[in-house]
Amino acid sequence: MTIPSTTQPSTEIPSNIYKPNAPLEAKVIKHERLTAPDSPNDVRHIVYDISGSDLKYVEGQSIGVLPPGEDANGKPHKLRLYSIASPGIGDDGNGKTLSVCVKRAITVDEDGTEHHGVCSTFLCDLKVGDISKLTGPVGKAFIMPETPNANLIMVATGTGIAPFRAFLSKRYNQLKHEKGQTWLFFGAQTRKDYLYESELEEYKENDTCHVVTAFSREEKNAEGGRMYVQHRLIEHGETLFEMLKKPETYLYICGLRGMEAGILEGFEEIASRQGIDWNEFFGTLKAEKRWHVEVY
Ligand SMILES: Cc1cc2nc3c(=O)[nH]c(=O)nc-3n(C[C@H](O)[C@H](O)[C@H](O)COP(=O)(O)OP(=O)(O)OC[C@H]3O[C@@H](n4cnc5c(N)ncnc54)[C@H](O)[C@@H]3O)c2cc1C
Repeated sequence: MTIPSTTQPSTEIPSNIYKPNAPLEAKVIKHERLTAPDSPNDVRHIVYDISGSDLKYVEGQSIGVLPPGEDANGKPHKLRLYSIASPGIGDDGNGKTLSVCVKRAITVDEDGTEHHGVCSTFLCDLKVGDISKLTGPVGKAFIMPETPNANLIMVATGTGIAPFRAFLSKRYNQLKHEKGQTWLFFGAQTRKDYLYESELEEYKENDTCHVVTAFSREEKNAEGGRMYVQHRLIEHGETLFEMLKKPETYLYICGLRGMEAGILEGFEEIASRQGIDWNEFFGTLKAEKRWHVEVY
């Protein structure tokens, strides 16, 4: 396999324009719930006005949020990172906004006591007109390749869709001449949690764009178990492997920590069916910077 000439954009990637000691105070201009009203999962799309600021970002980067208040030791809460869900030109296309996709983090103890995450609660409770302190952007690795007509395979669970929403927008709303294939695999518990459903379904109208969903609590895999994204990958295994053999194919995984293990198992299974040594193949993908993972 030949190493692609360009794996990373040659344009400069913005980095840490705003730091925690001098964050950007950005106003919320849109805030909507993405999950169905009767879903137990609460995920929000939040759009910030960044006009008049120095903030710039590229697709795939993350932004820091400094939640107000102090921790149990009386220290200011630490910043949390969120993948940017908008393309570099923003949802409105004029470079004046930045969007995030945030899940309200709630952990329930065995006795039923609920623990609400500090920053996600702050963000999910925001209203239009409220201000947040933002830092960054950060991240130089999980970004779109500059290779012309690259094939993109993206695998997301839940809010892991955020960077891919940005990738899709860049590819189909800006780089309209791109001829590469796009495969997006999106996993969630049920269809009620299909984030950005109408946008993603619309991208399917492009011949090169394939959007495949896996709803683990509604659908069964071939063995009769829950349908996770890796089972969908296996269903399309041959096509995906043919693509991955080409140096202009890049794979991205984003979402829940732990999802990578299942995906690796899925790819190992596809490889063994095709008589390919997965470890060697995987090593090549990583060495060529064509395997990107961002899990949290
Ligand atoms: C690169 C990167 C990108 C990310 N992108 C996104 C994104 O796009 N969208 C997104 O929603 N998240 C994203 N995250 C995760 C995000 O940064 C936060 O970790 C997440 O929102 C939880 O933060 P929190 O402050 O709400 O929870 P915290 O207050 O930090 O708590 C963490 C968890 O512990 C639980 N908890 C708190 N107290 C207790 C207790 N006493 N006992 C038991 N459990 C407890 C909380 O319910 C929560 O689930 C990303 C993370 C990284 C590193």
